[in-house]
Amino acid sequence: MKTDTFPIGIFPVEDALEMVLMFDQTGEISYANETVRQKLEYDKDLCGRHISAVFPNTFRTAEDDFDVESLKLGTLQNLVAYRKNLTCFPVEARIIKSEICPEVYICMATDILEKEYLGREIERIKQESQEAMKVKSEFVANVTHELRTPVNGVLGNVRELLDGNLDEGTERSLRVIERCCDDMNKIINNILDFSKLEAGKFNLEPRKFHFRNMLEYVKANHINKITEKGLDFFMTVSPQIPEYIVGDELRIVQILNNLLSNAQKFTSLGKITLEVFRTAQVNDKIELFFIVSDTGIGIDAGDRNKLFQSFSQVDASISRKYGGTGLGLNICKQLVELMGGRIDVESEKNRGSNFSFSIWAGVCEGEEAVLQRPDDVKNPLTFIQSEGSAENGSNLENVKTYGTQGNQENLRKTLSKLILCVEMENWEKAEMFMETIRQLTDEAPWEVKRIALRLKMAIQKENYEKAAAEFDALNRFLM
Ligand code: ADP
Repeated sequence: MKTDTFPIGIFPVEDALEMVLMFDQTGEISYANETVRQKLEYDKDLCGRHISAVFPNTFRTAEDDFDVESLKLGTLQNLVAYRKNLTCFPVEARIIKSEICPEVYICMATDILEKEYLGREIERIKQESQEAMKVKSEFVANVTHELRTPVNGVLGNVRELLDGNLDEGTERSLRVIERCCDDMNKIINNILDFSKLEAGKFNLEPRKFHFRNMLEYVKANHINKITEKGLDFFMTVSPQIPEYIVGDELRIVQILNNLLSNAQKFTSLGKITLEVFRTAQVNDKIELFFIVSDTGIGIDAGDRNKLFQSFSQVDASISRKYGGTGLGLNICKQLVELMGGRIDVESEKNRGSNFSFSIWAGVCEGEEAVLQRPDDVKNPLTFIQSEGSAENGSNLENVKTYGTQGNQENLRKTLSKLILCVEMENWEKAEMFMETIRQLTDEAPWEVKRIALRLKMAIQKENYEKAAAEFDALNRFLM
């Protein structure tokens, strides 16, 4: 069958958006649809011409040398199509052999001029934004570095002054400056880490370290603040974890510090626990699974997915009340992912939160023995540390119920800590204990709640006389 007898009518090619051309074994064009005619600016006069008139770069050989073997049938090719006036544009084309008429070749092509242009534009914008990102992170790195020098200068001098003989008022002021400098250093370090992680310039530094000593160090960082707030602390580590592992100790400590500070910051009543398990082993690598749980304010379902984004705090009142930059959890997420793991949160408003993360670490030679102890199979967890009273932590609901023995004991304990802070005029800490008292009196009769509210207002106004009077009034209910 000749190409001019090809049954075009049975295919809707004439109005197709794609360019459709047909030619025979000699390369002579027998059909071109409306799109081809428009794009190549021909009338009907394209038929009868040679295919090399449209694709001169591909089918350079003229009529006599045209070879169908060179057509690369079926594959998608990037070709250059020429208009009648010899200007050109790029196309994506596929040439196939007709199944109905074997001597007919069909070329279907799409104009990709716009696509190529957009591709180049996207590439340009990507490069520009990478360049801008680089400039931004270098700027952030320089500024934070410049900030760190004066902060450390202030801190050093304050510590020197603190070593001398000081009156009570001066010492208190210097302690405040010292704490502010420490906070500022934490923020500066967070911003530095964040900008390095964002710029992909962050490298882990794995080395061998004593796993339980690392946990003891983390515990030591937090235990004072936790017990000062009257909270319990429990730490459990699986004996299946070898004594020494290979990992970036500094960064594991950083993640745990962040999660435990948050747990402590957002919990006024109950307990904080840290648990570590060994969940998998592949050759000389083990997967460690950490859980940090608290019985604090919890997080709404809607807010949970915002948590790991940068600069995200659940709401503005949180940053006013508890401080922070909202970078901590984002840095944790990026660090955990660099260590091959993931971080998750389970939480319920007013019922506490469980932050868990996994990481992969190396096992040192000879450490396998730890995993073989028969007792471990029966008892995969070992209780290695507990602080405070277990009864208090495990019976949180009872403690929260006003009037129960646990509730009254806790109220008494917290009130005595609160009055000490009032005596010392440590109003910030007094506010912290006040939050615990608010929770403990949440279900109390109206007159108790009213006194607690007045006590809170007196503390906020830093009014010693009023706070002491309301304290006495509240204390009378507990006698
Ligand atoms: P920041 O450095 O400001 O503490 P994070 O990224 O560590 O920021 O935490 C972001 C926000 O997540 C906090 O401001 C708080 O709203 C919420 N959040 C984190 N941990 C807890 C927790 N244990 N309980 C309740 N809310 C939490």
